[in-house]
Amino acid sequence: MGSTISFFSGESFPIEMHKVRIVQKLSLIPIEERVSAMQAAGFNTFLLKNNSIFMDMLTDSGVNAMSDRQLASMMMADDAYAGSMSFERLKEAAIGIFGKDFILPAHQGRAAENIISSAFVKPGNVVPMNYHFTTTKAHIGLRGGSVVELFKPVAMDLSSDEPFKGNMDTDALATLLDSERGNVPFVRMEAGTNLIGGQPWSLANLKEVGKICRDRGIPLVLDASLLADNLYFIKTREASQRDASIREITRRISDEADIVYFSARKLGCARGGLILSNDQSTHDKMLEFVPLYEGFLTYGGMSVREIEAIAVGLEETMDFDMIRHGPEFIKLMADELAKKGVPVVTPAGGLGCHLNASEFLSHVPQTEFTAGALAAATFIAGGVRGMERGTLSEERNPDGSEHLSEVELLRLAVPRRVFTMSQIKYAVDRIHWLFENRRLVGGLKWISEPKILRFFSGTLDAVSDWPNSLARKFRADFGDSL
Ligand SMILES: *Cc1c(COP(=O)(O)O)cnc(C)c1O
Repeated sequence: MGSTISFFSGESFPIEMHKVRIVQKLSLIPIEERVSAMQAAGFNTFLLKNNSIFMDMLTDSGVNAMSDRQLASMMMADDAYAGSMSFERLKEAAIGIFGKDFILPAHQGRAAENIISSAFVKPGNVVPMNYHFTTTKAHIGLRGGSVVELFKPVAMDLSSDEPFKGNMDTDALATLLDSERGNVPFVRMEAGTNLIGGQPWSLANLKEVGKICRDRGIPLVLDASLLADNLYFIKTREASQRDASIREITRRISDEADIVYFSARKLGCARGGLILSNDQSTHDKMLEFVPLYEGFLTYGGMSVREIEAIAVGLEETMDFDMIRHGPEFIKLMADELAKKGVPVVTPAGGLGCHLNASEFLSHVPQTEFTAGALAAATFIAGGVRGMERGTLSEERNPDGSEHLSEVELLRLAVPRRVFTMSQIKYAVDRIHWLFENRRLVGGLKWISEPKILRFFSGTLDAVSDWPNSLARKFRADFGDSL
């Protein structure tokens, strides 16, 4: 275990194992302006402008704080269309950490998914996974394949003490692989399972999955975008791994997979993506798509500066003090909210604190986008921008009807090393206030709905004048406070 710090007072709270050396000024606009900004953004938090946001908890993608070492490395980047030494340094770092032989660059995580799907998914194929991610499912779907999720029932249990909700149902996997023989191009395991609340799987579960795949000659693909959080939880929750180093656990994970890919916007705290593999022919099948979609094989759509920063960021991820910040601050936030009765997903996962919108706004039906309404209301209440993870993020059913999500969550991401504890406490305070006034919040309806990944750019409106009612109550309670 990394050294823990206890307090004379008997209190218990996480402490930043870094100091802040570069800052960015923030401002908090008055609530009336927050209502106008939300309206102008079509009640879609993706469409807000950053200068109207106080705490940007939309995502951990590309917004993690970089270290002094990462910034320094960027000054020594080696510009070359082909054969950049920056890529050599990234290759050495990534291959050293994951123990794979081959590496391909991509400009971000979904670009890696495009390449993997283009190389392996054929029409009618089925891809089993512990849970889908939006971009993964879209890329598999574009190639004519479909996704089958093999989570255990506890994954959908939003308040639980199950430490590894991201585990795959291995019996279901074995059964499916046997019945779909010849029709499964690969099995995918996602670390720090994003859409169910940043929940991890155990190394033991991954090993079982790996064995089932190997026994049947089916490749296992690991989405390692949120690996940092999963590593933290394996180390702190899986007894057999308590004494292993983060580097050792990473290698044990990677050894199970035939392909490892990730978004370096999350893993590595810079902006890019990588695909690692073991085997020449697997590598070659993916390689041909890299110059087509991404760029030459030694940059793949990334700038050389980012490439340098990812190399350093991957090494820094092997430091327990670095990867603990997110999960520990998230737990603090979830615990404080839970104490006030606010429904949060438990146990707290990685990536962010997740509010259970179905319980928070139990009076807003899914057809009026419960989690989307909570995202809008949270921004209005505190200038805090989160991300809807519910029905809005789904694609419609083939017959055109709404596909109601299994869960309606508001994700409040805690980008790594970005927020201080007082900011987290501010967010808790405003969410607590919103919870006390939840009856004032109503639902949303579509104005303009794109066909693919609609949550990114679709626009909606409030079903009633609830945003202004909420603002009036805020004024009544807080006077002229921001
Ligand atoms: C973010 C994410 C992706 C996609 O990565 P981008 O860099 O945003 O394209 C894929 N898988 C998971 C689990 C992610 O969290």
